[in-house]
Amino acid sequence: MTLLFRDDPYLRACEATVLAARENVIELDRTVFYPLGGGQPGDTGSIAGRRVIDARKGEGDAVWHVLEPGAAPLSPGDKVQVEIDWDRRFRHMRYHTALHLLGSVVRAAVTGGRIAEDKAHLDFDIEMEKLDKAAIETGVNAFVEAAHETRSSWITDAELDARPELVRTMSVAPPRGAGRVRLMEIPGIDLQACGGTHVRNTREVGRIEVTRIRSEGRRNKRVTIAFAAGPG
Ligand SMILES: [Zn+2]
Repeated sequence: MTLLFRDDPYLRACEATVLAARENVIELDRTVFYPLGGGQPGDTGSIAGRRVIDARKGEGDAVWHVLEPGAAPLSPGDKVQVEIDWDRRFRHMRYHTALHLLGSVVRAAVTGGRIAEDKAHLDFDIEMEKLDKAAIETGVNAFVEAAHETRSSWITDAELDARPELVRTMSVAPPRGAGRVRLMEIPGIDLQACGGTHVRNTREVGRIEVTRIRSEGRRNKRVTIAFAAGPG
């Protein structure tokens, strides 16, 4: 299984061959579908005109493409056209990158995080009084406006074990097991193990606002962000 989104998260479509089909779950030899993981939802889209309602991690590198119930069956060997719902995915990429910026502005251990199409949040192990809505917005938006390039690379599992500071999110284990781990870097701002999809430049995130700061427990102070309304 070739995960095309790893090298090019902007790829919206590809041709592929069906490797396996079990009821409404399809495996392909290559895919542009990001499977649910690291707080980022699985992509939706289509395979050979059939609606894909979710994408999940299978065994190893496999991606399970979940067809909507009642979809016409596919068979191993079928050549298919594969396409993701790009508008939805691009919003996930913008929010995902925004969370890296948020995690850099708020200097505290990250205990969790989640991305949706219309909002995203990180949970921090921090005191409520240290979370200032206006200061967080100003900090994240300054990074957005400064138009920083983002970069991805790989390190080995052993290198990651030697550099535990690269794992920011305690509750979300970095994707490992294949001997190498993906790194996401915004030079000078953030560097951590992350298998998600990100925008190339922080400018593409657009301005954000902090919509809510709420305590979800002693070690979980949740900061929720959304794309700012209006131009820019
Ligand atoms: Zn990431």
